[in-house]
Amino acid sequence: MKRRLFNKLREATQSINYMDYDEYQKAIETTYDSLMAEWKKIQEELLGSPDFDARRLRGYLLESLFYYACLKRQAFFIDVELVEMDEARSESYPPWFEATPLYDVIPTLHHVKEGEVRKRKAPQTRADFLVSYVDDRGPVAPSLVDVKSTEPKAWDSDWGWESTAALRRGFTFQLAFPIEGIEYPKELKEWEVKTPCSKCMKLSKDYRTCSECGNKIFPFTIADAYYEAKELWEKLGKERKGRF
Ligand SMILES: [Zn+2]
Repeated sequence: MKRRLFNKLREATQSINYMDYDEYQKAIETTYDSLMAEWKKIQEELLGSPDFDARRLRGYLLESLFYYACLKRQAFFIDVELVEMDEARSESYPPWFEATPLYDVIPTLHHVKEGEVRKRKAPQTRADFLVSYVDDRGPVAPSLVDVKSTEPKAWDSDWGWESTAALRRGFTFQLAFPIEGIEYPKELKEWEVKTPCSKCMKLSKDYRTCSECGNKIFPFTIADAYYEAKELWEKLGKERKGRF
């Protein structure tokens, strides 16, 4: 089901005529409608079957809508870059943004159960997307994003080891969910991104320092290595050339 929605996105983007800008823009917009239509079709097909799980289906839709919003943003930045290639170069390069879906095919290690309750404390990556953003000043810490249908009300003990796993790999671990009042987001700005803080067990607005308790959530990321190297280059009197 999830694959069907993601395939819809792939089919839609592959069939676009990118040489006709207006047509291309229209096609990007209507991709949203075809995703919603495919989701409704899946729902109708499953209605009454034992596999029908409305919550799970909505979760799949939101994952594909998040990806759609990311692709839209990605396409926008690519457009700017293409225009730059044709015309005069501006001072700064356009930002670069990319989201990579991580399918639920990662085998779960240390799957220990106590009765019916799953107990797992060992860090292992589990997220829906890897999202990277780079602009002219440099990269922002890449994030492992878990997409949620609504803002989680309670702390999920899994977030503790998911954050640790992300930190060990130099990434941040964040949750994305539609902003309040929006059921099916169309744009990235209709999504809220928050970072779980293992200390106060709340969701922080900032990924570095918890907006709720002041705890340092992610003291070091892959992006920091870039800035530290940049500082070192400057100290050594060297200049780094070329685009990032
Ligand atoms: Zn906190």
